This record gives sequence, structure tokens and C-alpha cells, in this order.
Amino acid sequence: MAASWRELVIGHNNEPYSLTSWPTDCQAAIFDGVPELPDITVYVEALERRIIGQPIVVLDLHTPFLLRTVDPPLHSVTDKPVRAVRRLGKRIIASIDDDLYIVMHLMIAGRLHWLEPAKRVPRNVLATFEFPNGKLTLTEAGSKKRASLHLVRGSEALKQFERGGLEPLQISQHEFAQQLRSENHTVKRSLTDPRLFSGIGNAYSDEILHRARLSPVKLTSRLTDDEIATLYLAMRESLQEWTDRLRAEADGVFPEKVTAFRPEIAAHGQFGQPCPVCGTAIQRIRYADNETNYCPRCQTEGRLLADRALSRLLKQDWPRRIEELEG
Ligand SMILES: [Zn+2]
Repeated sequence: MAASWRELVIGHNNEPYSLTSWPTDCQAAIFDGVPELPDITVYVEALERRIIGQPIVVLDLHTPFLLRTVDPPLHSVTDKPVRAVRRLGKRIIASIDDDLYIVMHLMIAGRLHWLEPAKRVPRNVLATFEFPNGKLTLTEAGSKKRASLHLVRGSEALKQFERGGLEPLQISQHEFAQQLRSENHTVKRSLTDPRLFSGIGNAYSDEILHRARLSPVKLTSRLTDDEIATLYLAMRESLQEWTDRLRAEADGVFPEKVTAFRPEIAAHGQFGQPCPVCGTAIQRIRYADNETNYCPRCQTEGRLLADRALSRLLKQDWPRRIEELEG
């Protein structure tokens, strides 16, 4: 890649120049996020408390598009208890007796809900898992139905969902540095690449980079040892703090407010809002279906990144399809 982020910036200006009025449906698509490590962790914990040991009385699909597998048949899970729930990347995996695994990917707009046994299932749900003690439902807002459900048999079959990314909270700084330097990309891309790191997406990568005071488009080959050390710490702190925060919110209740847009978030989704550290307006770079937010004072030495040129850079460095990006 020829250009560095320094060559792609424009000087001090009032606004990034391509900041025009985008269609609101386009904004809606950008302004939501795939649940990432903290969100999925808290979902998994909430599910563990409710469905471990509980048999699936009925698994009802209300759309033909959600289920991506035909064999084993769906009814093979009926009356079998859930033995474990865990996270794999941004997916949730439930292990069922008979070596069966339900693999769920919520993508951007898929969300889980928990209903008491007597509650009626609303019309908009895509799937209902009925247990003796309640109902787990899956909804997906918007018209693009991307959430997916796979039912597979045998742990070997789970390999197709493994992308190879390291667990960010389980690796040493040395492993992190090695992984980061194994390929040359923008640091934003590397953090969110499911082949490199597991469970980090668009929202938390913005938070991590803001905390580390690093430009999202700095190339990983140009990161110094000190920058990598700072980034490693920022990654661990951001993911842990957010997991703790979401866990505290979900204390005793099912996590219903899973969104990448929260007032406590420093950069992501905060375009135009003051940076909580320095008060400068948070800026954005758009590419494909995505948007990166950053603070120009904290992260790019006061410079605004030129949106169009950067989009070109990110285009080379960014998968075209969200499915590829979200692993
Ligand atoms: Zn700032």
C-alpha cells in the first residue's frame, strides 16, 4: 500500500469535505453494530443462567431464511437439554445432547430476548426456543435478514466457524504484537479482522483506538513497540471494562439493550459529539457499509482525515461483504 495516513490527511478545516447529507436509511445501516466480545459474553452468561440443563421443548422457526443447514433436521434437538453455551468469535454456540450444536450469528440487527413462559411470542420474531422456564426469541430489525442459525452434529463441524483469530483477553503482549505485525494493514482493519483477533468489530475497535490515541489508518508495519504496548493495554481495558459494565446492567435481567450506540462510548457512533477526553468534535471516515469514528486531537495530531482518499485506502484494506468482515 503506497499511501500512509499522513499523505491522506487534509489540513485544519471546519468539516471533512465529503460530509454531506447521506440518506437516512444508509445512516441507519451504519449506525448499528454487530454484537462484539463484550455483548456476546454477556449474552452467553445470561443464557447460561437460564437454559443450561433445560430441554428445548420446541424450536420454532418463523422464517425459512434463518436456518442455513438441512441436516441434522431441526426436530433432532427437541426435548434435549442444553449442556453448554459459549462464544466463538461473534457467534453464540449452544451444545445440546447427542453431540448437537446450535450456532447463532446475530450479524448487525439480530437480537435475543427472553420471555417468561406465559408471555406470548410477538409477531416479529424469527425463531423461538421454548424451554420449560421461558422462551428465547431471536429478532432482526430492518429488511436485510443476515442473522443465521446453523444446526450441526459433532465438534468437527464447528471448525467451519473458526476464523483463527486470537482471543484478545487471553493473549500476551508478545503474541498480540506478533499477530499485529504478521500482516500489513491499517490498524483498524487488523483489530477487526476475525482471522487475526476474535470478537472485535467496528464499535470496540474505535473505542480501543481512541483509548490508545492511535489513528485508525496507521499501518501496522509502522507501529512502534511503545504504540503496540499502549494498544495492547487499551484493547484489554476497553473490552474488560465494557464487559463488566454490560454485565452489571444485565444483573438479573436479560440483556435487552444490546447496541453499539451508548452515551458512555467515547468515539464510535459519536460523530459531531465532543470527545470525552479533549472536547473536540468526533470525526468519521466512511467506507463500504461502515464508519470509523475518531478524535482528531487525541488520535491524529489535530488533523482531519480526508474522507474520500481514505475511503479509497480502506477499500483496498477492507472486505467488500459484511459477512467476510464479521467472520
Ligand atoms: Zn479527544
